[in-house]
Amino acid sequence: MGTLRRFTRALAGWGDPISRDLSRSGDLFVARFRLGLLVLLTFVPLTTSLANPGQIENWLGLATIGVALGFAVWFERLAARSVPPAWLGMATSQFDVAVISLGFVSFILAGRPIVASNSLVHYTMYFIALAGTGLRYDPRVCLAAGGAAFLQYGAIVTWVGIYAPEVWTQSTVYGVFQWDSQWSRLQLIAVATIIHAAVVVRSRAFWLNSMRDQLTGLFNRGFFDDSYARLLAGDPPAPFTVALIDLDHFKHVNDRYGHAAGDDALRFVAAHLKASFRESDIITRYGGEEFAVLLQTDRESAVARLEAWRASLHASARIPRLSASLGAASVPEDGSSRGLIDTADRRLYAAKAAGRNRLVADDPEAA
Ligand code: GH3
Ligand code: MG
Ligand code: MG
Repeated sequence: MGTLRRFTRALAGWGDPISRDLSRSGDLFVARFRLGLLVLLTFVPLTTSLANPGQIENWLGLATIGVALGFAVWFERLAARSVPPAWLGMATSQFDVAVISLGFVSFILAGRPIVASNSLVHYTMYFIALAGTGLRYDPRVCLAAGGAAFLQYGAIVTWVGIYAPEVWTQSTVYGVFQWDSQWSRLQLIAVATIIHAAVVVRSRAFWLNSMRDQLTGLFNRGFFDDSYARLLAGDPPAPFTVALIDLDHFKHVNDRYGHAAGDDALRFVAAHLKASFRESDIITRYGGEEFAVLLQTDRESAVARLEAWRASLHASARIPRLSASLGAASVPEDGSSRGLIDTADRRLYAAKAAGRNRLVADDPEAA
């Protein structure tokens, strides 16, 4: 029961920027694999069409692969973008399953439904498509693709079992149509779907854990770097503010109250950050007694919220006179290059030099 609840909660929370980052490289890998496979598949109908130019079905086969190839090129171009569309993983995995199902339909149209129901090679392609969904790191994509494969294959073999003439459902090569073996095939598709979705949920949990700082439970520097790069990659980047936060005279806290109390203070600051900022703001422990926050909002409200946080930390800290200095830089006001973080760092030092327990969000000479 607990597992099921965790699983549904994981499903509901998907589609966030973290998972999208994970899916992106998987989408690109699958897109290039699909493209390579389709290029290889072109050779068979191409050579047979050239050898027998009179046979229309060879040209039809070639045209079908040509259309699929066109889609594959488009998908590859979309996946290679720095910010691919959010629907890409879902759409391309549905495309793969549908192409395999259309292959089955073409066997029926060619009057050979026994190949559709009994061929092991063609049916196995569903599992390759399902394995590819695992690389998208989104369990919704796994479940939707597996569900589509189940329903489409189920509909095809049900049609063959009920409507196909009996002579069509027997073959010396492929054997006889049997309901129970078709049912087993459907069950295997369902099992593979669930396993892929579970693997995705678990690997995301491991990945998230590797992005956490053990002491405070906040995201770590690695996560900050990824998020910062992702925010800057927008074309143009949406407004955001990066704030570097450094606790004041923290060495004295350790010296005076002991290292354990220093750790407690760091946990307190982390909790205070989490309680003060929004879900969409990315709060990280940047290093030692330094924190970094990415606020996805306009400069004015970011500065107001950072200033309010600074004041309330100083007022509420259990350790006397615990305070923080902050340096902030914003997109687009301070540019949108990687140097933004250096600007924030320079302003943090300016805040220290000006007496600590303050926020500096612009350069004095520019004011
Ligand atoms: P300033 O106001 O100039 O920033 O002074 P500061 O003392 O905070 O700066 P400094 O860089 O000299 O010292 C940082 C201190 O933070 C030293 C280090 O022991 C402490 N610190 C870093 N990480 C941890 C930690 O995980 N736990 C504890 N207890 N202390 C830490
Ligand atoms: Mg420091
Ligand atoms: Mg410090």
